[in-house]
Amino acid sequence: MTSKSDASRQHISFDGVAGGRLQRWGWSEHEEAAFRLSSEPGDSPGRVARVHRRALDLLTGPDDVYTRVDAPRISVPRGGITVGDWVVLHTTAGATKIRRVLERRSLLERVGPDGRVQALAANVDYVFICFSVDQPISTQLVERFLTSAHGSGATPVVLLTKADLTRERQEKEKALRSVCLATSVHTVSAFSGEGVEVVLNLAHPNKTLTLIGPSGVGKTTLVNRMTGLSLATGEVGPRRLGRHTTTKREMVSIPSGGVIIDTPGLRTMVPTPNDEGLAATFPEITERASLCRFRDCSHRSEPGCAVQAAIAEGTIEPRRLEHWRALKEEMERAASGRRRRG
Ligand code: GDP
Ligand code: ZN
Repeated sequence: MTSKSDASRQHISFDGVAGGRLQRWGWSEHEEAAFRLSSEPGDSPGRVARVHRRALDLLTGPDDVYTRVDAPRISVPRGGITVGDWVVLHTTAGATKIRRVLERRSLLERVGPDGRVQALAANVDYVFICFSVDQPISTQLVERFLTSAHGSGATPVVLLTKADLTRERQEKEKALRSVCLATSVHTVSAFSGEGVEVVLNLAHPNKTLTLIGPSGVGKTTLVNRMTGLSLATGEVGPRRLGRHTTTKREMVSIPSGGVIIDTPGLRTMVPTPNDEGLAATFPEITERASLCRFRDCSHRSEPGCAVQAAIAEGTIEPRRLEHWRALKEEMERAASGRRRRG
């Protein structure tokens, strides 16, 4: 099966180059260039597929064979080494060590419960933000995921999962669309297969996808549907016994091309400070704010505030401005908390 899929990808082959054997895992000219910049004889590349407490599982060749290495003691990149990172390996006297992490072209991150930046997935092209028909949808949580995803350098797409559960589908779809003003929303069902092709169509060879969202929304079930694998889903119970118990953050390949990173459910999402993410999540406020008289308008009671004028006209919902302000202030607090901690 491997040889067949390799053959079908000859059109993107990089003959004789370092990462040619890693195309299945998303290696592209970008990585090739970054690798060549400062590699020495004996160096070889790999991609992080799973992160354990003190070790990493890497993919270093075309097959689903993991190389276990110790977590590196080198200075790790922002938010820690994470799934999707490309690393440079060096083997001496039979021991393989990570020498460095290649510069990331995108990074999905958040402020973790300890106040530190936590890297969730690196070198991702599409972030699928998942909410399900059978759980209440908090618009503020959607806005938080959107802000983080828009700031990651990847393209966010919102998925309403479990679309086969029809009873509340319309209501949930409406709720989601009302907060996704600049992001497309698709309905999918891992059970019926509805909408799965939308996700698969973006999974070209070389593309990295990731799924994020609260737990229980069907992320792992969707990965299984797309890949034909059987990663442990919620039905197994909270202890998640079996091969995939150590970490639920894991990268797997999609048979028709591309790779997908499954992530553990996130109950909360505090985005790291990023103005672009906030601006893209609240486009109606961003657009209007450019017309305010003062450049640093806080859109409270300043004269000539175009945002307040839009609220008075009814073109911007007051709660959107409240959410925008709360999120902006929270991100600023998170940033200053980090500075205090050093
Ligand atoms: P995760 O925590 O987001 O990865 O969610 P899981 O994939 O573990 O799924 C949580 C529960 O939702 C499991 O009981 C699944 O069987 C169920 N589920 C997942 N996808 C669907 C779907 O498309 N339709 C329905 N009705 N249930 C689903
Ligand atoms: Zn204003």
